[in-house]
Amino acid sequence: MAKRILILGAGFGGLFTALELGRRLRAADGHELTLLDARTYHMFSPLLHEVTSGIVEPRHVTWPVRALAGRHGFRFENRRVRAIDLDGRLVRTDHGDVPYEYLVIALGSVTEYFDVRGAERWTLPFKSLHDAMALRSRLLQMFEEAALEPDPERRRRLLRFVLVGAGCTGVELATEIDDLARRTLLRHYPGLDPAELSIVVAEASGRIIPCVSDGLARLGLEKLAQRGIQVRLHAPVVAVEEGAVVLRDGERVPSATIVWAAGVRANPVIEALPVEKDKQGRVVVDPTLELPPYPGVFVLGDGAHLRDPGTGRPLPPTAQVAVQQARTAAGNILRDLRGQPKLPFRYRHRSDLVSLGAGDAVGEIAGLRFTGWPAWLLWRSVFLAKLSGWKNRIRVAVDWIMQPIFGRDLTQIDG
Ligand SMILES: Cc1cc2nc3c(=O)[nH]c(=O)nc-3n(C[C@H](O)[C@H](O)[C@H](O)COP(=O)(O)OP(=O)(O)OC[C@H]3O[C@@H](n4cnc5c(N)ncnc54)[C@H](O)[C@@H]3O)c2cc1C
Repeated sequence: MAKRILILGAGFGGLFTALELGRRLRAADGHELTLLDARTYHMFSPLLHEVTSGIVEPRHVTWPVRALAGRHGFRFENRRVRAIDLDGRLVRTDHGDVPYEYLVIALGSVTEYFDVRGAERWTLPFKSLHDAMALRSRLLQMFEEAALEPDPERRRRLLRFVLVGAGCTGVELATEIDDLARRTLLRHYPGLDPAELSIVVAEASGRIIPCVSDGLARLGLEKLAQRGIQVRLHAPVVAVEEGAVVLRDGERVPSATIVWAAGVRANPVIEALPVEKDKQGRVVVDPTLELPPYPGVFVLGDGAHLRDPGTGRPLPPTAQVAVQQARTAAGNILRDLRGQPKLPFRYRHRSDLVSLGAGDAVGEIAGLRFTGWPAWLLWRSVFLAKLSGWKNRIRVAVDWIMQPIFGRDLTQIDG
């Protein structure tokens, strides 16, 4: 009998499940394959910091889902999911209820503020394309305001950029902001004193970029220090006020631009499900990615908690994990339709590469360590290859080639 297969979320987990199922489902069987998302595009998050710094055009990291749907054998509906009724096998959306026989939940995560007072109100998030563009606009605006500000103390506050969290996102963003500010913007504001510009990264733990080994993280820290980026380790932010962060030791760091890049937790729709969850609100799935005790319901990506049998640790919230899980979930739905047993998910860790601005990076691939230019070239090659669609690969490659010739784009469109 024909089944309704419903996929929630056109991010890394959901879109790649739809593409795989669209390719492998037989049209003659009449199964209905539908992908829902509140947005109409898929977004490639690993290049968001380059959108902020004016290297990559925002549209070049997106993929319109409707244009893919027809060509790849699935239907797309632009709906916002409000809740999931697992017992009634219904997804409640802003445009009515949608029934299903198989459900893939890939709604991703939201920013985690760890109940820090004032954090949600006074910091800028860095999660969506809109966030990347809003931050870019803010950076440009701060330079304009600083250029007109006669008071040196206020000028320093306008030109101090604080990032909360020294994970991959925080560090990549800090180095891009540093490049944009020092290598490009300062040249256009000859009246501003470079000594008044500062970038501060506040990190609660004792190290940066946890995705790479201790040695590479130490090297990364040295490289940040050489550039003049101030990294405060063991410095959890305990409160954020209008125009300042407060660290645990009581130090108040004044800044007009505070970016929160300190962590994520599961999408509230996932967190509301009446099943076992971890501290980040992710639901605990079984090794086949199915959600117990609901056969036919799979959860992937940032919303799923699954221990890696190799390391014994929960899999991290990364695109690498979500894309690999998409193949397993699609395969398991096909196997179930044929009456075959489902297979467990096996994560194959491929690479960890962290960009440290123009011409510099650190990373590990297949146990080999890379730093400096070679690592940066690898970083660009790997992400270009992973970027969704040939059109985007060509457009981003052209952006990268044009930047050293014509410089970064400094237009502040929404200011
Ligand atoms: C700035 C940044 C940089 C990153 N860099 C890397 C990197 O270099 N390498 C890496 O591996 N990972 C990286 N990540 C992490 C990676 O983006 C996530 O782990 C990955 O996107 C998770 O995939 P997902 O399918 O679970 O969720 P997502 O890809 O976030 O997709 C979730 C989808 O659900 C949709 N959605 C959400 N709520 C609703 C709703 N209520 N109704 C309908 N639709 C909804 C969203 O619009 C979205 O399309 C980065 C993340 C960020 C923010």
